[in-house]
Amino acid sequence: MGPIALLMTIAACIAIERSARYRYRDAAFFRDYFTSDLTYLIMAVGFGLWTGLSYVTPLTEWLAGQVSIPRLARLELSKWVLIPAGLVLVDLGNWLAHYLMHRSNTLWEMHKVHHSSRVVDWLATFRSHIGEQVLRNVMGPMFLIAIGFPLDVTLFATGLYGAFGVFQHSNTRLNLRAIEGVFITPRLHRMHHVPGGTCQKNFGTVLTLWDRLAGSYAPAGRESDVFGVPGEVETYPQTWFRQFVEPFRRLIVRMTLQHD
Ligand SMILES: [Zn+2]
Ligand SMILES: [Zn+2]
Repeated sequence: MGPIALLMTIAACIAIERSARYRYRDAAFFRDYFTSDLTYLIMAVGFGLWTGLSYVTPLTEWLAGQVSIPRLARLELSKWVLIPAGLVLVDLGNWLAHYLMHRSNTLWEMHKVHHSSRVVDWLATFRSHIGEQVLRNVMGPMFLIAIGFPLDVTLFATGLYGAFGVFQHSNTRLNLRAIEGVFITPRLHRMHHVPGGTCQKNFGTVLTLWDRLAGSYAPAGRESDVFGVPGEVETYPQTWFRQFVEPFRRLIVRMTLQHD
């Protein structure tokens, strides 16, 4: 069900983005760097699911056994409790990972890849460095499995979380003020992609709660349609391979300079 929710959200966002009335700004379906972002999508789904199912589950089962973490699965809680709880925990884990990526210089170099999108749309959701994907998966779904969430519940909650992620990046202009008190909407997340002060606000994906508690919540203000890496909007590399290499290249340059 989780992957189905994600696919349905992608289809709905693509449909709304094709409507001149409901999209936020004009952008072709095959916009610049479409194939680059499609590569991210294929890598995230293929690599993420493959490693998740092949290695993460047995690894976390083993880890949980080693450190005697109580297994939630044994409590046989209802899915009506586990799925919302899983979604909230995946959202919290990802909020924390996102917050750390804006606080650590090393992690920020990796997270710049996500901020480099000049067009914020459904496909831009998937543009993130593999290092960021690993961090988010460790602090989100892997953490859930480690504390004993059943795999099917974890996949469902993660799929729902992914659907929210696609929705908040969608190039849509919908009047969602009524839910902005509780949920991160596309315009709240667009503010996070503006290369000014608000890119240090609204780190959340699903709930505004974590940003409100941390003091990093910014209500929607005047909208901008310039997106990109602060200070490098025009110059940050845009192709998949250059973006894969760039954070490592910069970190090596920085370490070399420190040793000189
Ligand atoms: Zn960010
Ligand atoms: Zn984003």
